[in-house]
Amino acid sequence: MVYQADQNRYQSMVYQRCGQSGLKLPAISLGLWHNFGDATLIENSRQLLHRAFDLGITHFDLANNYGPPPGSAERNFGRILQEDFSAWRDELIISTKAGYTMWDGPYGDWGSRKYLIASLDQSLKRMGLEYVDIFYHHRPDPETPLQETMKALDHIVRQGKALYVGLSNYPAELARQAAEILDDLGTPCLIHQPKYSMFERAPEAGLLDVLKDKGVGCIAFSPLAGGQLTDRYLNGIPADSRAASTSRFLNPDQITDEKLAKVRQLNALAERRNQKLSQMALAWVLHQEPVTSVLIGASKTAQIDDAVGMLANRHFTPEELQEIELILKS
Ligand code: NDP
Repeated sequence: MVYQADQNRYQSMVYQRCGQSGLKLPAISLGLWHNFGDATLIENSRQLLHRAFDLGITHFDLANNYGPPPGSAERNFGRILQEDFSAWRDELIISTKAGYTMWDGPYGDWGSRKYLIASLDQSLKRMGLEYVDIFYHHRPDPETPLQETMKALDHIVRQGKALYVGLSNYPAELARQAAEILDDLGTPCLIHQPKYSMFERAPEAGLLDVLKDKGVGCIAFSPLAGGQLTDRYLNGIPADSRAASTSRFLNPDQITDEKLAKVRQLNALAERRNQKLSQMALAWVLHQEPVTSVLIGASKTAQIDDAVGMLANRHFTPEELQEIELILKS
């Protein structure tokens, strides 16, 4: 059946300005790191994209290496895009990245001009696109001069292959320097993509201040700590969960008793707020300045419903915030 996007898709989503740019992003964005590679049935991936867009999620986040195998998430996304979303390209914000190992030899990794430009060309081919909306440098490169990497990003925008550029996983001071170089080049840094959740607070040690100061937006990745900040693991490790899968990014050893004790207390607080823990965890990230969007992953459409349901209750009392801090420090 031909996909028809829900006519009411813009009614419940909240769109927030990304830093000081002209671009608004949905408060919830969908990442394609897991569940879009060749190991997933393409029909499942398709359902996730349909549900997301039907609920007003206009931003899909990819990277050259998402799969497995690397590249397959972009290829599968490109196919679904062509088959189902071609009428809506101008209603979508599609991002990709380069920075991690993608191909053999000295030009398939890190942050040289050679790698970034070649990688984006490959990504565009895999997705069947003429341009992406946001192109990121995925992680800092300790060897390539920062100037070279930023000039490559600026060049990519001038070529029309990306509309905006972003950085991911840069520490605070390097993010500041990079943003200043990009400002001087006339291609401002639109957005930063750090790992940020109730369990991962590193951005609070300087990065968030830099982003506020430089007018750069923030999209927080893994806001549910890969599923740990949900009710997923309260009664063991379900067979269909990320922790039980072959993903090397979450394994049963990480679901410790200590963490579960915190998750139980957080879950009780979420229940008192009449929401799920996953919803409270997303609301908590979203309420931090300058977070523009929370970048979730999903293996099931119901998880996307949960995330969007969070918007009905995304504010906290000072007492609730204090209680969360006490639980996290316990
Ligand atoms: P999350 O922290 O949102 O974890 C998502 C996982 O949590 C889902 O796949 C699902 O796992 C579980 N989950 C989600 N909703 C629920 C729910 N309501 N109830 C129970 N379990 C739930 O994010 P990810 O770690 O997946 O990362 C999101 C995106 O961030 C990526 O797709 C990517 O775009 C980006 N990213 C960027 C990185 C970077 O370096 N820039 C690095 C990592 C991610 P399950 O399989 O168990 O159902």
